[in-house]
Amino acid sequence: MTVIPSTKAVPESWAASNDTMLVDRHNRTFTYMRVAVTDRCQLRCIYCMPAEGIDFTPNERLLKSDEILRIIGVGAALGVNKIRFTGGEPLLRADILDLIRGSVSTPGITSVNLTSNGLRVKELASDLAQIGLTGINISLDTLDEAKFAKITRRERLQDVLDGVKAALEVGIPSVKLNVVALKGFNDDELGAFAMLTKDDPVTVRIIELMPFDAHQIWKTGRHMHAGEIQATLEKLFPNLEKATGTPTEHYITRIPGHLGKMAIIPAYTRSLCGNCDRIRITADGCIRNCLYSDNEYSLRDLMREGGTDDDLGRVLRGAMWDKEVDGWASQRAKDTGPDVHHRESMTQIGG
Ligand code: SAM
Ligand code: SF4
Repeated sequence: MTVIPSTKAVPESWAASNDTMLVDRHNRTFTYMRVAVTDRCQLRCIYCMPAEGIDFTPNERLLKSDEILRIIGVGAALGVNKIRFTGGEPLLRADILDLIRGSVSTPGITSVNLTSNGLRVKELASDLAQIGLTGINISLDTLDEAKFAKITRRERLQDVLDGVKAALEVGIPSVKLNVVALKGFNDDELGAFAMLTKDDPVTVRIIELMPFDAHQIWKTGRHMHAGEIQATLEKLFPNLEKATGTPTEHYITRIPGHLGKMAIIPAYTRSLCGNCDRIRITADGCIRNCLYSDNEYSLRDLMREGGTDDDLGRVLRGAMWDKEVDGWASQRAKDTGPDVHHRESMTQIGG
């Protein structure tokens, strides 16, 4: 991977980018920073991590607390207003509460969120609510214990359910469930997931399986297209009402009378790339301007080589300016250019 030295002139296209906001040449503005804070996890979901033999990033190569908060500060000065901590499992990071507190108090940041497997949520829910966490997305692909053990390779369903309950009880403003659709595995549970929206203000998001695991289980017939997910929901609930949600949620609906909502995330179809407002920072401190891109720029190395905040801002602006029009174009551009860094799991990219 090539590090962009802080002293070198930037390509003209970079200099051309607006200097107060993070924008690209396709007229998108980036205000939402997703920061992976670890690549470690207590679970081993089959579409995400192998059962064993994982080379975790050594601690010294991960971003430190002050480095993460520095990147967030530089992003906020360039218009970022929403942060999401992810991983790996972000609640495994010992300084996660400090990172949330630090983000909440960063000028310009108005929303601080987590994506979590839920296992430590019960224990931390009160603290998370008290320090101002805006939202939590908890991943849960099945409500069946045996299936849970198969998909995560661990027997921890009850801990996740307890986590969801605790997040709702302490009043974290937004609680969402991330359900990866797996054909022949949990497609028969979409109705049961939808019923979780009845009495709680939870959003159930059904996500398309993506090709990011080294073993490519998505090629084994498990992939369920957004259209099939939508057709299944429409068949189960013919009277769904339209609802509103975030720019990358599709087919946002509510069952009449239910407190919560449902949405589909076309993560593989990539039909909502035109709405993309995201910047991704990997746990080892690289910017990825698209989930499907392998071109990365190391902010960690730049910081550790003495780069200034202006240097960091310049690299952030440049990386986002160069973003491809959509995830298909990013995928086609993979493995070209000097900054290619191939990653084999969502835990390394930051899901
Ligand atoms: N450990 C946390 C969790 O599971 O929520 C955060 C990290 S995880 C990588 C973030 C999200 O990515 C989860 O909702 C997970 O289901 C999703 N994910 C991981 N690999 C995926 C894949 N191959 N396709 C679709 N979603 C995936
Ligand atoms: Fe861990 Fe989340 Fe990946 Fe599952 S999806 S293995 S919980 S990081």
